[in-house]
Amino acid sequence: MTGLARRPKEPSGEFELIDRLCAGLRPRSRTILGPGDDCAILAPIKHPVLVTVDSMVEGVHFRIPWFSAPVLGRKALAVNLSDIAAAGGWPLACVINLAIRPGIDQRFLAQLYVGLRQAASEADLDIVGGNITRSPALAITITLIGEVRRSALRRDTARHGDEIFVTGSIGDAALGLKILDRKLKARGAHRHFLVDRFRDPTPRLRAGQALAGLPSAPAAIDVSDGLCQDLGHILDRSGVGAELDADAIPLSDAYRAVFGDDPSVALSSGEDYELLFCMRPGSSAATLTRRLGVAVHRIGGIVRGKPEIKFTGQSAPILKSPGIAGFDQLRSGNRSGRRR
Ligand SMILES: [Mg+2]
Repeated sequence: MTGLARRPKEPSGEFELIDRLCAGLRPRSRTILGPGDDCAILAPIKHPVLVTVDSMVEGVHFRIPWFSAPVLGRKALAVNLSDIAAAGGWPLACVINLAIRPGIDQRFLAQLYVGLRQAASEADLDIVGGNITRSPALAITITLIGEVRRSALRRDTARHGDEIFVTGSIGDAALGLKILDRKLKARGAHRHFLVDRFRDPTPRLRAGQALAGLPSAPAAIDVSDGLCQDLGHILDRSGVGAELDADAIPLSDAYRAVFGDDPSVALSSGEDYELLFCMRPGSSAATLTRRLGVAVHRIGGIVRGKPEIKFTGQSAPILKSPGIAGFDQLRSGNRSGRRR
């Protein structure tokens, strides 16, 4: 069911809520019919179509006290938009399923939609429908449709000799989560920065679109599970290995101030939603930074062989030390780890 349609069994208060949530939506001309019917209707799309879905589930991906409702709405959409960015696409339309548990009031949901509408507007995206259901836990599931106007960025096109780059800084969101979870202490501006990177990530849509416009489209992925794990997906799909310079992983000032120069958290966990991409040599990080509109750092290269990551650099020995959270999978006898 789409269109945030009414269900006879729902109490009347929820009817009003549905009306209120839909009231602020002003679809673009590409949307022929928005919320309120059995299906939304979109104008024909002349390019290849991208489709992605993602869920944020209370107790799995977030806890209510960590977020204001609008910021939770923004993040729920951002994690989906990040997948469109990783494909080098343009977002067009989405449908939203809200699973609501007892205790979540209408004011919270209205505020959640404030954030969803704001993020949709920033991304030039229409919310064209959705569904509301009861559930033991709050969950926001979004299906997003986009289009490929240039080349599509894929995970299976990395080749021996490619250089590996990443946008922004890595590991901030993982530290932000540790701070919210009271597993790490930080104060002041550093705390604010790191927590904000976890709560309100920026999907790198423009950077992905710029990459898709390059003469040779790079292999790409968004960093949602940790840099090594996400690079591992590219290696597996492309049938190649990688060498990473552990000293070249871009760590923010806040990361270094709170956690030091050890890149292990940046490598092993975090929802940074930066883009990682592998492209033919010849472009400097400075040139890419200008073209993509966001800081870009070269962190390694693609090599022939098994889909494994080998580390170089001064920080590499640190990565062998036991007890690094989330790092067990990564380590094996010789600083390389089998990724899946
Ligand atoms: Mg992704």
